[in-house]
Amino acid sequence: MSLNREDYLLVIWEFLESFGSITEKEIADRLKISPPTAHEYLQKLTESKLIIKNRGDIKFTPEGHEQASALVRMHRISEVFAYRFLEIPWEDTHASVMELEHLFKGERGDKLFKNLGYPSTCPHGNPTDPLKPEQEMAVAFAPEDRYILKRISFEEKNLLKALAAYSCLPGTEVDLIKDGTNLILSTENGEIRIPENLSLSVRLSRIP
Ligand SMILES: [Zn+2]
Repeated sequence: MSLNREDYLLVIWEFLESFGSITEKEIADRLKISPPTAHEYLQKLTESKLIIKNRGDIKFTPEGHEQASALVRMHRISEVFAYRFLEIPWEDTHASVMELEHLFKGERGDKLFKNLGYPSTCPHGNPTDPLKPEQEMAVAFAPEDRYILKRISFEEKNLLKALAAYSCLPGTEVDLIKDGTNLILSTENGEIRIPENLSLSVRLSRIP
């Protein structure tokens, strides 16, 4: 698969939304490319004034942010399509739509959104309106209590697979247990350990 600007913008969004920062190495790892390739492409994005690099730190320009949010929206809508109509497993939809989402643009994208019934989130709970402010807490910061699993913003396959194995999808009630550095979501089906490096991206909401 050849990567293009959209893939880079999407990954940058994903990291900034989930963890608040992103480095070249993280981009290279996530896209399974070499760090020099990532470096070269990020240089192009800087020249196109879509991102700003300040030492190791990467941020969007307003133009980059606008383009990325439109891509994120279509990515999430495409995931709903893949999950519901192509029966792609929950943990695989993120990767599977990396190609699909490029086909749904403009009017086509709007029609898909309408015919899916205007889904408010992707299958992983992430809002199809990426600019909508969320009422939520990251597992990393939430005190021990009972919550609703709201979303997994960094869609890492192994974690998604572990959650799916216990039917722990967004909307599920979970008990958050913190045992030292062990972060556990306890459900009626069993306990899932959340890796510390992903604990910022697993978001919980209060039970209404
Ligand atoms: Zn998703």
